[in-house]
Amino acid sequence: MPISLEYKAKNELLQKFPKIETCLKCNTCALVCPVQYAGFSPTNTYVNNIFSTQEPEKNPNIWLCASCHKCEEICPYEVKPLEVIEALKDEAFEKGYAPEAIREEINQVLTTGYAFPIFQSLHFINRERERRGLKPLGERKVGEIKKIAGKTGLENKMAGWKKK
Ligand code: SF4
Ligand code: SF4
Repeated sequence: MPISLEYKAKNELLQKFPKIETCLKCNTCALVCPVQYAGFSPTNTYVNNIFSTQEPEKNPNIWLCASCHKCEEICPYEVKPLEVIEALKDEAFEKGYAPEAIREEINQVLTTGYAFPIFQSLHFINRERERRGLKPLGERKVGEIKKIAGKTGLENKMAGWKKK
């Protein structure tokens, strides 16, 4: 039986991704998914966990997905789990369910251009890069990043999120 009938009744997101109905729980994606090894099992694979959770946008596991596309490449039924997971992340972010760490990471990108707090250590990082014959990292074009965030609506979403 398709795994998501109950889910379909409860969440209109599934209607945007009818391919989920063709998932036969064959577990082929579990063979290549790196998140599968983060405590999931053959009877509760990572993808199955996402597809079968009620209110899946509230499932914290959606944030574990590394967006590596391996499930898409290998799925014999072209279910495209990543498309669903990314849409769930969008929905979770809009509704304020995204973890604090995600918000911090976005903020980090918007203010420094880097996803990780390395900006203060650039001097040391570049010294090491030079020693290894690598080009130095420079300051990011934060103004350009902010423009993109403004035009795509991300800036507004972040502002709304801060008020919650
Ligand atoms: S490989 Fe495709 S059909 Fe098989 S469990 Fe994964 S998503 Fe479902
Ligand atoms: S894209 Fe996400 S769900 Fe798909 S294999 Fe990679 S980590 Fe797993």
